[in-house]
Amino acid sequence: MQYLPLFVKLTDKPVLIVGGGSVALRKAGTLLSAGAKLFVVSPEFSPEFTNWQQQGKAELITGYFSPELLDGKLLVIAATDNDSVNAAVYNAATARNMLVNTVDDQPKCGFIFPSIIDRNPIIIAISSFGTAPVLARRLREKLETLLPQHLGPLAQLVGRFRDQVKARIKGFAARRQFWEKVFNSDVVRDVQANQLPQAEQRLAALLAEPQQLAGEVYVVGAGPGDPELLTLKALQLMQQADVVVYDYLVSPEIMQLVRRDAELICVGKKAGAHSVAQRDTNQILIDLALAGKKICRLKGGDPFIFGRGGEEIQALLPHNIAFQVVPGVTAAAGCAAYAGIPLTHRDYAQSVQFVTGHCRPDGSEPDWQSMSTANQTVVIYMGLMKAAHIQQQLLAAGRAATTPVAIIENGTRLQQRIITTELSELAAKVSTEQVQSPALLIIGEVVSLQRQLHWFGARPNSAVFAQPLTRLG
Ligand code: SAH
Repeated sequence: MQYLPLFVKLTDKPVLIVGGGSVALRKAGTLLSAGAKLFVVSPEFSPEFTNWQQQGKAELITGYFSPELLDGKLLVIAATDNDSVNAAVYNAATARNMLVNTVDDQPKCGFIFPSIIDRNPIIIAISSFGTAPVLARRLREKLETLLPQHLGPLAQLVGRFRDQVKARIKGFAARRQFWEKVFNSDVVRDVQANQLPQAEQRLAALLAEPQQLAGEVYVVGAGPGDPELLTLKALQLMQQADVVVYDYLVSPEIMQLVRRDAELICVGKKAGAHSVAQRDTNQILIDLALAGKKICRLKGGDPFIFGRGGEEIQALLPHNIAFQVVPGVTAAAGCAAYAGIPLTHRDYAQSVQFVTGHCRPDGSEPDWQSMSTANQTVVIYMGLMKAAHIQQQLLAAGRAATTPVAIIENGTRLQQRIITTELSELAAKVSTEQVQSPALLIIGEVVSLQRQLHWFGARPNSAVFAQPLTRLG
């Protein structure tokens, strides 16, 4: 982080502006809206400055900058059209360890003015620190349209109740749950409809109700890695949770989106390394929920596809713990889309099977025979370690040795890597390409379409399907 965003209280604080023209005027307007006490030095001033002086908002000093003018000031703005004057202001201020802003000269800025979205008392500041002003402006426009105008009145209403809520509801977590309840209630709708007295009554009624902490588990699918594949509901619950219990498949980019002060508990490590036993994970969820916490159990992909989401919910049932399940984009769907491999296609595959490469608890084998005929796609999760076995079993069951195969490592993520090969080469490729987890295997004729439909990231490094596509059947 090049600059730390801070919100500074400027009411009645002395700020020096060097320059009296239009550039200085813009900055002065912003500073005045924050209540600063302005001192402006310049040989001449545009008329607005004179007006502000008459209104007692600014003190004008006719003349040139000299370092003594910095005495007793909190901030200084160099806003002249003369680079050497601006440099002199910058050097003098920096020598005194003062924060200085030099207009349109970012290297000479100890602080910068962000662009502001004002829903008082909610203020959002955005900056690209001079690197991409147009992008920052577009982002601002987007946020302006996203943030409803009633946000300000809603925050003001909440502010009026803060002390009462603090007095009545003890504990930070309980208060947070109360406010979540308020924001999910008709109080918001009343404010939206500009029915402020009704909103106030409703809020008071909610506060008068008996308050009890109710634990709940949200079992949430986080998708395969690209944070933009999260559902809106997943994001909402990630933002509401007191605790986020996650495993290694949840990408770091997605973890950035959980509520900043939520407690984070990691219960899974990469395959092969130590991870928390399922029964311990279940117990963590039970204990936290019984203590009244809202827990987001965040899982890679979809919680009900090789995610043990069902088992975790079964463990909650005897304790009467409330739960919700939010589906996620499963690895098969995400990886196939981002690799350009349609899992079914009228000409190449009429069905698709999702299979785990892990042994079953009783050591029995999956039904390889059912995966052996052409015109169907087999997607294998957790298949890396067992690649040689999978290859051997499918070949033995009669699947063609030339069946196209894709190995997709880190699907949908920026580091996505796709390796295409044929079934007879699968295990050799996993080893020579040193494929890392997480990786998914897609086996079937549809893989040959990848050559045409590829769109995301680097092209695969082995183009084995150079011959024109031939339709089956
Ligand atoms: N519930 C998850 C699957 C968990 S099993 C889901 O619905 O996707 C873990 C396996 O999923 C990994 O071994 C790998 O085979 C696959 N997987 C998950 N995310 C992946 C990704 N981004 N790229 C490739 N494979 C992935």
